[in-house]
Amino acid sequence: QLINELIELDQNHFLHPTSSIKQQQEEGPAAIFTEGKGIYVTDLSGKTYIEGMSSLWNVHVGYGRKELAETARAQMEKLAFSNCFSTFSNEPAIRLAKKIADMTPGDLQAVFFTSGGSEANDTAYKLAQYYWKLKGFPNKTKIISRKQAYHGLAVGSTSATGISAFHTMTPSPSPEFIHIDPFSAEELEQVIQQEGEEHIAAFIAEPVQGAGGVHIPPPDYLENVRKICDKYNVLMIADEVITGFGRTGKMFACEHWNVVPDFMLFAKGVTSGYMPLGGVVIRQPIHEDLKELAKGTLLHGFTYSGHPVSCAVGLHNIDIIEEEKLVENSRTAGEEMKYHLQQIQDEIPYVGDVRSLGLIGGLEIMKNPETNERFTEKISPLIVKEARNRGLILRNVVFEEADTIVFAPPLIIQGEEIMTLFSILKDSILAVLNH
Ligand code: PLP
Repeated sequence: QLINELIELDQNHFLHPTSSIKQQQEEGPAAIFTEGKGIYVTDLSGKTYIEGMSSLWNVHVGYGRKELAETARAQMEKLAFSNCFSTFSNEPAIRLAKKIADMTPGDLQAVFFTSGGSEANDTAYKLAQYYWKLKGFPNKTKIISRKQAYHGLAVGSTSATGISAFHTMTPSPSPEFIHIDPFSAEELEQVIQQEGEEHIAAFIAEPVQGAGGVHIPPPDYLENVRKICDKYNVLMIADEVITGFGRTGKMFACEHWNVVPDFMLFAKGVTSGYMPLGGVVIRQPIHEDLKELAKGTLLHGFTYSGHPVSCAVGLHNIDIIEEEKLVENSRTAGEEMKYHLQQIQDEIPYVGDVRSLGLIGGLEIMKNPETNERFTEKISPLIVKEARNRGLILRNVVFEEADTIVFAPPLIIQGEEIMTLFSILKDSILAVLNH
């Protein structure tokens, strides 16, 4: 009864993000979730699933953390909200900024808070352009991004996103963005030379591409990118919205390659999704320059920049990640995941490339992995649906050539649970492909 009522209300009144409007109208929501505990979520019908995607790659500490609820409640009771515009501030925001400055690599040191990842991206582009303007280079405005990249869906971040399907909704992505090959540092250098470094403000990359299908860069890629950015006075922006706070087996993915970006973007895992929060961390010399050169008001910010409840929850969430050694678990559980992926690849002839780093991974479905031949119809959506029926939530990526299944379970996942996850995945692939 309740289910039918909610399905009908959902169909009539709720426009879902990145959804098929038609399918939603016809079928209603596939699941209405009501509860979560550990790596599991339960829907209104009482069915329980392993959340193999940590929802949107973000519920790092797992579901049902009463201590985070308690922190949110205590902060709400004390001071539910106060803004950080101009000279106002609040203690949780101050302490979280300091904490993030301490835990991010190198001399990353000052934080601009946003409500999520898209705003963090837009903030970074504006800050980069503003920085060069203050330094006396008003024409350094273009931003180089990468194909297959996902940076969010505000107008600026949509333009930076390199998956062309996302550009179809608006006829005019910003002309300031140039998309290049995702793994060619040479192309980055060529494009800077072609455009002229006097026109390029920044280069942005996810250290591991997430929504584009989980792509891990070649070993020396990011280091080379860092050198090229230094050589041509281009700011390097690392979008660690997915990879930050332990997802890849290091606290931040840039640490795998010993690279310190000029701006680092975070969101998602900073609160494990318990409250909305994101931000930009900037390096000390840039912060110093801004302090010296920015005489007027920094005319940028959001109502919820530095939200005290989000920041209090963020601080407590990071404590949990540290105390429970979830970054280490991401690394060791990630090794187990690699083993299972390898087994699946060895056993199932339709599994092509498999890849993972820590607890983020993907596998390609192919008709013939030897010749790279694809099925004419995309298979991964069928497998993801089959897995869901069997109690496992995963995601498929079907942009352009890709026919990929991706996963990013909570960082608390343990051996038995990994085994269950991969046995459901394997059975689902076999059920679909032997059909
Ligand atoms: N950047 C990356 C790498 C992301 O994966 C995402 C979201 O998935 C975003 C930015 C956008 O974040 P949000 O959806 O919080 O705006």
